[in-house]
Amino acid sequence: MPAPGRLMLFKTLMMLAGAGTVTLALGAHSAAPDVAVAPDVAVAPDVAEAGSMEAIASATTEPRFSSPWVSYVPASATVPSPSAFLGRIAGAPGELVDSRQAYAYARALAAASPRVKVFTIGRSEEGRDILLLAIADEKGIANLEELKGATAALADPRTLEPGAAERLIADARPIYYLNAALHSDETGSTESVLELAYRLAVSEQPMIRRMRENLVVLINPVCNPDGRDKQVEWFYSYLKGRTDRDTLPRQAPPYWSKYAFVDINRDAHQLTHETTKAVSRMFFEWHPLIVHDLHESVPLLMSWNGTGPYNPNIDPITFTEFQALSFHEVETMTGLGMPGVSTWNFGEGFGHMFMDSVAMNHNAIGRGYETFGNGTAETLVQSLAPEEFSREWYRVLPPPADKFSWSARDTVNYNETGVLAALDYVAGNSRMLLRNFYTKSLHSWRRGIDEAPHAFLIPPDQGDPTRVAQLVMRLQAQHIEVSRSESPLSLNDGAFPGGTYVVRLDQPYRNYAVDLLAPQHYPKDGGEPYDDVSWELPAYYHLAVIPTADPAILRLPLTALVSAPRPEGHVSGAGPVYLLKDTGQEGLFEARYRLGHFQLSIAERPFVQDGVSYPAGSWILPAQAGLQEALRGVAVPMGLEFAGVKAVPDAPAHPAPVPRLGVWVPWADTDSIGWVRYSLDQRGIPYTYIRDEDIRAGKLRDKIDVLLYGHVDLELAEQIQGIPRSWGPMPFKKTPQTPAFGSPAASDDITGGIGWPGLGQLQDFVERGGLLVTLGNASMLPIEAGMLRGVRRDSGGVPRSSAGGGAAAAAASQDAVTRTPGAHVRVSFVRPEHPIAYGYTASSYVFRQNFALYATPRRWLRMAYCTTCLDGPVDARSVVMEWGGHDEQPFLVSGQVWGEANLIGRPAILDSPVGRGHIVAFNFNPLYRDLNRGDHRLVWNAILNWRAILADRSAAPMGAR
Ligand SMILES: [Zn+2]
Repeated sequence: MPAPGRLMLFKTLMMLAGAGTVTLALGAHSAAPDVAVAPDVAVAPDVAEAGSMEAIASATTEPRFSSPWVSYVPASATVPSPSAFLGRIAGAPGELVDSRQAYAYARALAAASPRVKVFTIGRSEEGRDILLLAIADEKGIANLEELKGATAALADPRTLEPGAAERLIADARPIYYLNAALHSDETGSTESVLELAYRLAVSEQPMIRRMRENLVVLINPVCNPDGRDKQVEWFYSYLKGRTDRDTLPRQAPPYWSKYAFVDINRDAHQLTHETTKAVSRMFFEWHPLIVHDLHESVPLLMSWNGTGPYNPNIDPITFTEFQALSFHEVETMTGLGMPGVSTWNFGEGFGHMFMDSVAMNHNAIGRGYETFGNGTAETLVQSLAPEEFSREWYRVLPPPADKFSWSARDTVNYNETGVLAALDYVAGNSRMLLRNFYTKSLHSWRRGIDEAPHAFLIPPDQGDPTRVAQLVMRLQAQHIEVSRSESPLSLNDGAFPGGTYVVRLDQPYRNYAVDLLAPQHYPKDGGEPYDDVSWELPAYYHLAVIPTADPAILRLPLTALVSAPRPEGHVSGAGPVYLLKDTGQEGLFEARYRLGHFQLSIAERPFVQDGVSYPAGSWILPAQAGLQEALRGVAVPMGLEFAGVKAVPDAPAHPAPVPRLGVWVPWADTDSIGWVRYSLDQRGIPYTYIRDEDIRAGKLRDKIDVLLYGHVDLELAEQIQGIPRSWGPMPFKKTPQTPAFGSPAASDDITGGIGWPGLGQLQDFVERGGLLVTLGNASMLPIEAGMLRGVRRDSGGVPRSSAGGGAAAAAASQDAVTRTPGAHVRVSFVRPEHPIAYGYTASSYVFRQNFALYATPRRWLRMAYCTTCLDGPVDARSVVMEWGGHDEQPFLVSGQVWGEANLIGRPAILDSPVGRGHIVAFNFNPLYRDLNRGDHRLVWNAILNWRAILADRSAAPMGAR
């Protein structure tokens, strides 16, 4: 029960919040039974729903883990409460709503209340609707279209001068968007926002009335319904009734959506997941001033605003706004006696690639909570580390103890109280926040006029016109306007051909355009970043995008692009032999698969035909029936140019049939490797999904030619042994009780990994002539388990999983540890004639996260004196690419690096014969979140040239057959 003394405190807070006079007794009509309930809760003018106070008090583990605002549910004669609909309060122990129940409740709420409307804003990969609730007073609901029009107008200052903006602000309302259930095992947010929606719709508390009258609150109760439903079924299958944290099994299903797990929250720039696309559509339809994403991890509630360094391309006003909001929450909740509410000390605020970032990147405010959660709906005893409950300036009232009981309702209480505090702040400062929104858009537009650069120019033909078009489309998807110059451009600082794309910077989203198109400069003393430090699209795409300081570009005639550019390719000449010049086209991979069984060779050396120079990697298609027609079907949509010639040129070439491709996805981590499947699916590449049990079953060589093992966030032991067998069997398949399981892959038991038998089968696959391609951490498996011999790991690197601040931040200023936490850095081909190099220059750059460092291979001769080192001479024949350029350019292209001296010269790609097969191991992830499209072809080359790679025995190490 609440401690004495909180009554006065609460009274003060309600008055501060604009609540005016409050009646402190229970409402006269309360049907609450005469039991011990919180005496200091101001219910009137509401009437508490019968039993709600008791149910909430009983589900709350300590009175201080609640607040007067959420310790009852208001009764309504006409609108169904969560209890009336679900038969329980939100956050009741041992229960979770799935998307069907949550949506049914949302629809019931909208049907019963004139203050609630429901919209469908998207459909998930597995076909579930994504719903949005809008809540305001009756007048607001009647005027939603006008209110949307007002925020849209404020977002574009080119058509709204300041005087008109001020008149608009007088009638507009801030729109506040709440996002729940993005990370599926953070289960409390859906429960929280369903009760919040009801409270906002029916409560007559003055504070809440003011929210309804001044705001439009948007709630997305289940933004990732595929994951929610899998998680809810997982809870009821494996977690329900288990309250001993020390003996809990894995708390989440292997998948949260078709492709991603935690990374569903990492595609703000590229908009790949349906969840993100839906929120992006919502953003540009409603222009909410605030996008607030609800997560769970930090005790007891952390309101994000980063530690800095802050992104220099985001208007500084945004950072003051989100600080103000966070401190308001800390102040209010601490005043209500709720311990453990903090801000700062989480993330850095430089990279904005998350769900809320759609707001940060478009002149609005992106924010989030990390509320404490159990990962289960059961009540658990939780223990905190000393640094989690110390008293700090950013955590003025720390969590109460190092060990306490925490419930699902506690999470609801914190979420809902925090959000109410935030909504109260925004309702009370609505004009200021609307004005800030307009001012930020105005600043962004004016900077493009008043300062250089005034535009970015993207030449249309850079070897891969399709990739240029894809870059332009990414900008358009972010509502960054792009134009095209039909005639050649002559500017003070350069000349550009007709057809050049132009991103004029006199536009409201100028700041985001600069952030995406110019290199990042993360400060060297900036501490450990939370995620990547570079997202420069030209670096990801390997394209030149040139800034201009010539203001004339703002006055020259340009054609605004109203749709996505579609470069068309051609088939010229009568044949019967056709050639395709390799100019680095990323689409060659897809084109090869589309051409299926047509014969095709790839040139191993440059050659000249009919006066045209063809580099190594170019295609030679001999005369064959139906070829010209098939080529036309590929050339036109994919922007490829095929030239007909009379005869097959005299050039060394190797046949390039399409391989049978397998993609191994370990059950222990489906997340970052999900992007491999995404990239293949987007290109329509057929492949076999290989599970751990498929590897254990063996006979891999009978089924596939190439096994692609993408980057996983697993150490070697977990890559081999997988999810602990002691938790098994853990089926993940469709049953009447678990209809959401079994997608995108099913299993009778996801535990046990490949084990040692599976490792043997992998070795067998390679020795029987298979090609194993490993990316990022996946390369640990062949190297550190000894399939690819002679390569030692160096302790000078750090694994990616150590990122995230804390102790690592202390090491950040040291160059002793090599770190490339998501940066673009230079590489060079040691074997420029290798098929992996086709389409690239000898010196290039790639995107690199923190991966283990490996030494150049050595031979092992004396086998004495040192158990950890190899004592023979260096044997660099298997090194295809190494870190560092061979030209004069700086190692860092975009982002930041530390300790690069210990990285430069080490292998970046190894290709070694093993038995009759080969292993190609990448020390980076060339298939990263559908971003580094300029790196993709390195992998595509390895797959398309599999026959040639297997045939090459020149780098055979000692003992290889
Ligand atoms: Zn999360």
